[in-house]
Parts: sequence; C-alpha cells; structure tokens
Amino acid sequence: MKKDLAIFGGTKTVERDFMWPLFDETDVKCVADIVRSGIWGNPDCGGSVADFENEFATYCGTKYALTCVNGSVALRLALIACGVKPGDEVIVPPYTFIATASIVIEANCVPVFVDIDPRTYNLDAAKIEAAITPRTRAIIPVHFAGQACEMDLIMAVAKKHGLRVIEDACHGHGAAYKGKKLGSIGDAGCFSFQSSKNLTSGEGGVVITNDDELYQMMNSLRNVGRVDGGAWYEHHHAGCNYRITQLQAVLLSNQLKKLEEQTLKRHENGTYLNELLSKIEGITPLTRGLGETVHSYHIYIFKYDKEKFSGLSKVEFSKMLAAEGVPCFMGYPEPLYKQPLFQKKNFMCYAIPESADYSRVQCPVTEKACYEEAVWIMQHAMLGSRSDMELFASAILKIQKSIS
Ligand SMILES: *Cc1c(COP(=O)(O)O)cnc(C)c1O
Repeated sequence: MKKDLAIFGGTKTVERDFMWPLFDETDVKCVADIVRSGIWGNPDCGGSVADFENEFATYCGTKYALTCVNGSVALRLALIACGVKPGDEVIVPPYTFIATASIVIEANCVPVFVDIDPRTYNLDAAKIEAAITPRTRAIIPVHFAGQACEMDLIMAVAKKHGLRVIEDACHGHGAAYKGKKLGSIGDAGCFSFQSSKNLTSGEGGVVITNDDELYQMMNSLRNVGRVDGGAWYEHHHAGCNYRITQLQAVLLSNQLKKLEEQTLKRHENGTYLNELLSKIEGITPLTRGLGETVHSYHIYIFKYDKEKFSGLSKVEFSKMLAAEGVPCFMGYPEPLYKQPLFQKKNFMCYAIPESADYSRVQCPVTEKACYEEAVWIMQHAMLGSRSDMELFASAILKIQKSIS
C-alpha cells in the first residue's frame, strides 16, 4: 500500500547513513603537521605536492602527474597544451558535467556533441567519425560514472584522423580499461578532487600524461608561464596560478592509500547490485563488459521504465527511492547542449565562430537518459555492505508493489 512508503510516512527501507568523505586520525594528523610546519603553499610545486604527484603517477602507471586547482582546469590545461587554435572543434559527449564542454569554450574552441551509447551512457565510439571535420582537433571521452569508454575504438579513430585524446576521468579514479588505469591511455587524462569525487581534498585536480612536451607546457601554464630553470619573474606563456596547497597534497597522499580498496569494494558491490536489479521488471543496469576491468562506480546507474511502475515518472520514483534511504538522484535534467550557455550562445569574450549553432542539436539517447531513464545511486552508498545492496533492491521492489 502507498502509505507503507517512507515518502508518505512509512518506515524507511535503509536505516543507516552513508558518509563521505571518509577520514580518520591519520588524515587529521598529516594536515596538522603541515599547518605546524608553516609551509602551506608551494611556489616551486615541491614538498608534499611533488610527493603526491609521484605517488599518483606511479599508481596510474604514467610518467607524469601534474596537480592543479580543480578538474575543470586540469582539462583546460591539457586541451590548451595540445596546441588548439581558436575555432578548432573538439568532440564531447552531451551526458556529462558542464566542465567537459565549457572548458572547450574557454579555449576558444567549439564543442561538437556526439551522442552516447545506450548500453553504457559513454560517448558512442561508432558515431565519432561522422562528426569529424577538417577543423576537428581533439576528442574528450568521459569515462562516465567510472566505466571505461571503448578506448581501443576511440584511439583508432583518433589516430586515423590525427586527433588528440584527452580522457575526462573525473569519475574514474582507480578504474581500469583492459588492465590500464583510466586516464593513462590517451594523450592526457584528467581527474577532479572536488568533494563528491572518489578521491578528494575538498577541491583539486590532476592531469596524467606520458608526453614530455605536454607535461612541460602544462607545468608552465599552471605556474604563471614560468619554465624550468627560468627566473622567478620570467614568464613564457599565458598561464595563471593554478597550484594546489601543501595541505591538499598531503591529504590526497593519505587518502590515496585507501583508494584501491575502496574502488574494488565499489566494483564488487556494483557487480552484485547488477545481479540483483536485473531480476526486477522495469529496471535495467547499464551494460558491462566492454573492456572495463575495474569500474569505480562514482555513480551506479540503472535504467528505469515507468511502464512497469504504473506510469510513475522517473522524478517521482527517484524521490520515493531517496525517501527509502537509498542515496539516489535523477541525474542531469537535460543534455548539455540544452543549457542556456549553448542555446543563448552566452560565449562572452571567447572567440567562438558564429556558425556554432546548438539550436538544432539532437542526441536522442542522451535525451532519453535525462528525461526518462537514468537513475543514479551515489558512490558513497556503493561503499556499503552486500546487505546494503540487497536493501537497495528491496526498496525498489517495495515501491513497485506499493504503487500498483
Ligand atoms: C567533477 C567533474 C569535472 C570537473 O571537476 P571540478 O574539480 O569540479 O572542476 C569534469 N568532468 C566531470 C565528468 C566531472 O564529474
């Protein structure tokens, strides 16, 4: 009966809270030690910053890791360092956080939206080639929710057309494609350490790469255009101060020690939840097995079919499920190209050609995901126990039974 549902005053299915970030006294102590040292900044990007960069590069299996203030700046540094010119086109998916596309504008380039794959909600590798023009310079695949894009296909099309690949791995800390850490496959890979992300210091970002030239340029751009061996007031490039603090870096180093275990736990829970939810009529987990060897489940996504829930809208269903104690959400309300930024062409001072027109862009798979299908369970809930996963499934079944 409807009144059994928590949203109408019934008992919640999931009683416990899920916390994020997770920390202990070792996190407190390492930050306190930096506070006491009095050395909080890093004009030379040394100390704890260099330590964390070395650790993260080793963890990802790349030559370099370069920290910066956030994931958006990480993406922008990588794109600009690739040598794009005003008016160049960059292929991006429309089902992602705004930064994937807005940083393209900030580099005076034109985001070109290519629809997502209905199986995974990742950039549809088979649709990339049709979007390539003589102006295309780069592809930014997003490993959405922490599931690897089909990187073999993406790298092959990029190679064929001489394009750069910048992986947006902001959901993919610790996840892997055919055994390789996400972010380590393209020309550069970018991560965010914003407070909701799977590795966090409140704010922060990092780019990983194996490319010496890209690294040197990004290093200069994040440090007001300085170059290695140059004088303090000697500036070679139009960079800015994008450095993180020693406090963030030491916290990231300590949190990184827990990342592998947390990632494997989410991967296991996600795999188990797939098994449980596939048994529920009207609920379809996203497809696995397209190359991802570790899924970081920054988001656990399932497809919802209202026909099997008495016509209940996705928005209403998500609210009911959240009231049952499952940390969940309806996700992006609309595809990125529907945002006022693109529809009203609010490009401000950026040199975006008049021909860039988003009024007729249509990506039906993304539209269906936003408007009808996608429901998100957040990453901190995926660190729960196996029995929590069972409760998530029961909460969905409870809603299905109570509303029919
Ligand atoms: C969080 C996020 C970013 C940007 O990271 P910030 O640190 O918030 O700037 C970029 N892309 C995706 C897919 C993200 O989720």
